[in-house]
Amino acid sequence: MSTKLTWIEDELASLREQGLFTNIRTLSSAQGAWLEVDGKRVLNFCANNYLGLANHPQLRDAAKSAIDRMGIGPAAVRTIAGTTNLHLQLEERLARFKGVEAALTFQSGFNANIATIPALVGKDDVIFSDQLNHASIIDGCRLSRARIVAYAHNDVDDLRRKIAETTEYGRRIIITDGVFSMDGDIAPLPALYEVAAEHDILLMVDDAHGEGVLGKGGRGIVDHFDLHGKVDIEVGTMSKAFGVVGGIVAGRKVLVDWLKQRARPFLFSSAMTIPDVAACLAAVDLLESSTELVDRLWSNAKTFREGLAGLGFDTGHSQTPIVPVMLGEAPLAQQFSKRLFEEGVFAMAIGFPTVAKGKARIRVMNSAAHTPEDLETALAAFERVGKELGVV
Ligand SMILES: *Cc1c(COP(=O)(O)O)cnc(C)c1O
Repeated sequence: MSTKLTWIEDELASLREQGLFTNIRTLSSAQGAWLEVDGKRVLNFCANNYLGLANHPQLRDAAKSAIDRMGIGPAAVRTIAGTTNLHLQLEERLARFKGVEAALTFQSGFNANIATIPALVGKDDVIFSDQLNHASIIDGCRLSRARIVAYAHNDVDDLRRKIAETTEYGRRIIITDGVFSMDGDIAPLPALYEVAAEHDILLMVDDAHGEGVLGKGGRGIVDHFDLHGKVDIEVGTMSKAFGVVGGIVAGRKVLVDWLKQRARPFLFSSAMTIPDVAACLAAVDLLESSTELVDRLWSNAKTFREGLAGLGFDTGHSQTPIVPVMLGEAPLAQQFSKRLFEEGVFAMAIGFPTVAKGKARIRVMNSAAHTPEDLETALAAFERVGKELGVV
């Protein structure tokens, strides 16, 4: 037998030994506060389903009725087969929701990043990128062939130093996550804006975990900091709080016009599907009609974070509904997650390479879908497992 793939077997064995092998659970129920996972009913603290929209009746109805009218697939890329009025309607609604001139949808947030960055900078240009930016930003930066200058996480002084040291450039752009998904901390966007404005550098924020979460009624990080009109490019996703799948780029109309001409995942990959677009429109309707779900999300997150801290857990420096429970070594985090699961709580262990070595954790994802009783049940399970494993 050929030995061409033996190295992969060795690598996988090594991941298992280090406690870094990711096991993917099988779900047999819809997304929600409770899930059936590998045949067991458990409380869900893993999902990015911040507002509980992934299985919301209004989104389900919108998707079904759109399928009946318009079918399912877009049948080709938009530049060749044309685009549906539903896609345009969603883009107009998203632009209005976010308070920008225009928006463009992509198949995912990942695609929105790898589409946008290479369309804006190239090999003579410089990108200043937060050291903890999401993988899709990193890949977008690499694809652009621009010079990548990483600055220390959320450290505006380091960014200033790096800008001063970088004297040769064509165009320049600063790129940051809005909410950092492993720690739940928020980028210092007002200070980043000041630096960008001072040096006339483009500013881009990826608001994947802020869309539907931060700002008035979930309008995002720009609204949260009242920076309307000051951030050049906002990337986002409809795969998290919106409960569906899809990416967004929002900003000036000229930006969207350019991306339609140059963004490769727009030009060479088919659009969002009809039911996804219709469900996203229903999500915008819901968010515009009431802040109830966003308010409940934040109140649940506060209860849970304070509950964990009260039990003696280290919850890092989270400012959002993402709450890390810092455990240190990856095998302990995996053991903690496994014991939680046995206690009926599904919460993921996260280790290297997603976070630095020695910074393994359980990442708790709060949701408006949880009831007060759900939160109590989960906190009691954290307490039992934490004591058993000597963490608290
Ligand atoms: C989740 C995430 C993405 C990817 O979004 P998808 O729509 O799932 O592809 C991109 N950027 C950041 C910062 C994210 O957290």
